[in-house]
Amino acid sequence: MKYQIPKGVFDILPEDPDPKGLWRSSHLWNFLEGKIREQARAYGFEEIRTPLFEQTELFNRTIGETSDIVSKEMYTFHDKKGRSITLRPEGTAPVMRSFIEKHLDQQRPLHKLFYLFPMFRYERSQAGRYRQHHQFGVEAIGSNSPLQDVEVINLLYSLLSKLGLKNLHLTINSLGAPKTREVYRSRLQEYLRPHLGDLSEESERRFTTNPLRILDSKDKQDREILKEAPSILDDLDPKAQEHFESVCLLLKNLEIPFTIDPMLVRGLDYYNGVVFEVTAKELGAQNALGGGGRYDGLIQSLGGPPLPAIGFGAGLERILQTMIGQQVFLPSRPSPLLYLIPLGDAATTKSFLTTETLREMGLAVDLEIRGKKLSGAMRYADAIGAKFVAVIGEEEMKSNHLTLKEMKSGDTTSLSFETLAEFLQHV
Ligand code: AMP
Repeated sequence: MKYQIPKGVFDILPEDPDPKGLWRSSHLWNFLEGKIREQARAYGFEEIRTPLFEQTELFNRTIGETSDIVSKEMYTFHDKKGRSITLRPEGTAPVMRSFIEKHLDQQRPLHKLFYLFPMFRYERSQAGRYRQHHQFGVEAIGSNSPLQDVEVINLLYSLLSKLGLKNLHLTINSLGAPKTREVYRSRLQEYLRPHLGDLSEESERRFTTNPLRILDSKDKQDREILKEAPSILDDLDPKAQEHFESVCLLLKNLEIPFTIDPMLVRGLDYYNGVVFEVTAKELGAQNALGGGGRYDGLIQSLGGPPLPAIGFGAGLERILQTMIGQQVFLPSRPSPLLYLIPLGDAATTKSFLTTETLREMGLAVDLEIRGKKLSGAMRYADAIGAKFVAVIGEEEMKSNHLTLKEMKSGDTTSLSFETLAEFLQHV
């Protein structure tokens, strides 16, 4: 029997045999993850890691029973004791669970956390949507200042800019206080009621369960109907209005271009206040690189202290795909600095010991260990992109000197085994 990878997931390899799978190269993931960690560090966010699975109830309660995630996308199963367990579909709920359970609020008044881990959603198979995807996310807990909103938004926006991405677009909106959502929900239903028959099946279903989600519809006819829909921004109370204006002003001060879109609601139930999304034109329909918003009531509703919070989640797959699509700078696959080709038993032992010594010094050195002939070994050195190659034969053993050949230029350098480390440390 031939085993195959399950549908909707992918391997991250040193190099995918399919050229279109460049984004699945492990060195690119390492590169991106390194940049993310640097950015999080600069903004004062510390890492949190939660388990891959949680009690199902946690997600039902926080994300909302009528959301797409809970209603159809969760990987839920019963463990051996019959408990309902769900593979993590998003990061905020587990982070909040941990925050409350470990009473982190008693350590500090403000917490800035980030995560970098896989999520699991049983998505319909389509471009840009995977059943295991990876998110970088942050949660800033403890401040309701508009400065906090903009810090979080800019953390994401400037990360994407620093990665070299172009055509980025920031969209923001405010969902106001929970009461505003209620008022708006009825207003939206009132507006949509006469059009019910013309709405897509999905939107018609959402009309009673979660009408705000209709605003997210990609259906052409739905979009047409929504053109005249009322705006939630008209229902904001003065406090939310002022907060939203401050956020907009700060974004302008930072010279971050943005558009206000009253149709932006995001899919999860726990948002209130400012919500935002960063998109890239190249991605087509699934064009959101990341998005998030405020969820001031969530911690309390889960039994924690009444602390405000804001966060976002951004997909690593989409960031990498966009970087490749836009041909931004990407590091190449790592290769050894030196590749040693020993000829004969004594040379093999010496080369092996030399290799290990150099590696212990942190130098990337490799050695021919398959007993290949010289020409085959040279071809391999070329294929793995070694910067230098040295052949160790009888003469090198006798003279205690070796000749390094720089693969690209063909230039050679002769030196003793004793000075090899120093030479490699300075090239
Ligand atoms: P969400 O929690 O749905 O707002 O997702 C946050 C970000 O994660 C999105 O903007 C995407 O970049 C990414 N994302 C969400 N779902 C998927 C998926 N199924 N496959 C790949 N990326 C995803």
